[in-house]
Amino acid sequence: MRLLAEQGVDCALCGSERIRDSFQWREFISTPPGIESVGMNVFICDGCGFIFLNPQPDAELLDYYYRTNEKKLIEGPSLYYREQQVEFIASLVKSRGNAFDAGCFDGTFLHYLKEAGWSVSGCDLNEAALEVCRTRYGIETQKGAIDNVVLEDGSIDLLTFVHFLEHVTDPNKVFEWSRRKLAEGGHLYIMVPDAERMFSNSIYGFFSFPHINYFTLVSLKNYLVKHGFDIVSARAKEDFEFIELIARKSGENKEVKLLNDYESASVFMARYAKKWQKGLDDFIGRFVDGKKRWIEKKSKVLLWGAGIHTSKVFSYLPLDDDDLKLIGIIDNDDSIQGGESCGLMVYSPAELGVLKPDVILVSSYWYAEEIGRELREEMNYKGEIFYFYGRPTKGHPIARDY
Ligand SMILES: [Zn+2]
Repeated sequence: MRLLAEQGVDCALCGSERIRDSFQWREFISTPPGIESVGMNVFICDGCGFIFLNPQPDAELLDYYYRTNEKKLIEGPSLYYREQQVEFIASLVKSRGNAFDAGCFDGTFLHYLKEAGWSVSGCDLNEAALEVCRTRYGIETQKGAIDNVVLEDGSIDLLTFVHFLEHVTDPNKVFEWSRRKLAEGGHLYIMVPDAERMFSNSIYGFFSFPHINYFTLVSLKNYLVKHGFDIVSARAKEDFEFIELIARKSGENKEVKLLNDYESASVFMARYAKKWQKGLDDFIGRFVDGKKRWIEKKSKVLLWGAGIHTSKVFSYLPLDDDDLKLIGIIDNDDSIQGGESCGLMVYSPAELGVLKPDVILVSSYWYAEEIGRELREEMNYKGEIFYFYGRPTKGHPIARDY
């Protein structure tokens, strides 16, 4: 399987060939033959400031990723903030009609739209999530990507993309499709991570597979204007790392003038890279100190969590030391228990009593506090708990919105 497509030579937004290297990292990605460490590279366009992954993951790899993460995704964090999003839309879009959510996942967002008076449908690649949508909310959806769903042109009054556009390989195609499917005067609601305010507090960061496009308010507006949309309203709240935007399909053929925020993008990307590197150095330092101690005491060390965070941990930490007794990974996902992840056996939490680790490394940023509590209070684990980011304190600075 090919992991990465050919490197693009120009910017998908403005067409400029002056694209500049900006930020690189490595992460482990699951592929059918196993797990591979892949170097990722983000570019900024000098002509408009658009930030994007280049080269992109190969289509086959993306397909594999979304299919194999089905179960994991469904057990992920519950979808926060949905009601407020629908309130925001309802305050600006007065008429009701047909709403379609691309990448609708388990349908929570569609459910709130339906409550607010829209007739709803949607599509997603994740079959397990669509089943939840059907049984929990009674909402029928289609399995598939937007270009293979059955949807009449001009039939949609409100099209919604919630955490969708950052994943697509061809934003132009998506906006062209949007214009076709929307009725005249129809609205588009978008929520994407805000590249300008992406945090770098964890090894995970926000620059991460399978995110391909990293929008700022300027680049998102540029895309919309380019494809014949008028911006109705946009908000990027101070304490919130996302952009929300509502646009209207424009009737006229206007001359398009794109803005350029290259200067600002290169400044915040450099700031991000610096902060990320410092975070990584602290992270590695804390682990190396612990490792010395565990080797000395001949401790049996177990990793908690086989997810994306662990794939990054394996890319950066010196874990392959023969003297380190790393005995496996524990994960709640029963579809991967009994198999291997990052070259280690994956066990269920119920096997903790048999494995008897001396140290558990909590491989998570978002859920570190929760996992620690579960280990102490529910599983009565008495050994050392090692937090990669230090012991979590009350009022986790990032997790508050989740
Ligand atoms: Zn550009």
